[in-house]
Amino acid sequence: MKKKTKFYALLLVMVLSLTQLAGMAVPVKAAETKTCSHGRTLSGDFGIILHECADGICVMCYHGHSKRVVIPDKFTIYGYTLPVWQVYGDYGFSENGVKEIVLPDTVFGVGDKEFDSYEGITFYVHKGSDAEKAVKQEGYTYKYLNNTSKPQPVKGTTIKRTIRIQNLAKITWKKVKCDKYEIRYSQKKNMKNAKKVNCGKNKTSLVIKKLKKNRKYYVQIRTKSGKKYSAWSKVKVISKR
Ligand SMILES: [Zn+2]
Ligand SMILES: [Zn+2]
Repeated sequence: MKKKTKFYALLLVMVLSLTQLAGMAVPVKAAETKTCSHGRTLSGDFGIILHECADGICVMCYHGHSKRVVIPDKFTIYGYTLPVWQVYGDYGFSENGVKEIVLPDTVFGVGDKEFDSYEGITFYVHKGSDAEKAVKQEGYTYKYLNNTSKPQPVKGTTIKRTIRIQNLAKITWKKVKCDKYEIRYSQKKNMKNAKKVNCGKNKTSLVIKKLKKNRKYYVQIRTKSGKKYSAWSKVKVISKR
C-alpha cells in the first residue's frame, strides 16, 4: 500500500471509531453505572459487558446468592436495552454454589469449557433453542425447561344436532374429556338473556323444555375442566315450531 493511501485509511478508521465512541457515549449517565469487583458493569446481580459487535450483551459474572439463577433475556447498558447473547465467564457462579442456571432463548454462546468450569451446575434451556445448541456444543450439563408456563386451553365441544318438537328441543353434542358441560340458549343470536343449563360429564344430550311456540332459538355449549372453561361453541339454531 502507498504511504498516502495508508494514511487516509488509518484516518478513516480513526474517524469511524471516534464517531462510534461518541455515539455510544451520549446516553451514558455516569451516576447510574456501577462496576462489580471484576470490573464489569453491574446490573442487578449480574456483571455484564457489551458484546464485541455492540448489538448484544455478554453476562460475565454473578454476585447474588441464589441456587437457581435465571438469566434475563435483556439488559440495559449505556442507555441501550439489548438482548443477552452470551453467558461467558464462570465468576461467582460455581464458586458461590449456584446449582442451576436458566438461560433465555436469546443466548447462542455459553462459556468456554477450558476456562469456565460451571462445575456442579445444570443449565436449563428450551428444547430446540440456540441456548440448547450452545450448552451442548461446549459439553455442559443441561436439562430442558418444560412449558408449564403456557396454560393449555380447555378443549371445547360442538353441538351435533338440535331437534325441535313443539315446546321442547333436544340438543346432542360430541363427548369430550371434561368435568361438565354448560349449555346456554336464547331467542337472540348474540345470546342476550340466555338461560344456562349444566350437564354432567357423562351426558351427551339435553332436552330443553318450555320453549315459546313459533319462536326460533339459538344454542351454544362449552366445557369446564377444573376451574377453567373452554370457548363457547358455534351457535346452532333451534328451528321454530
Ligand atoms: Zn463481577
Ligand atoms: Zn462477547
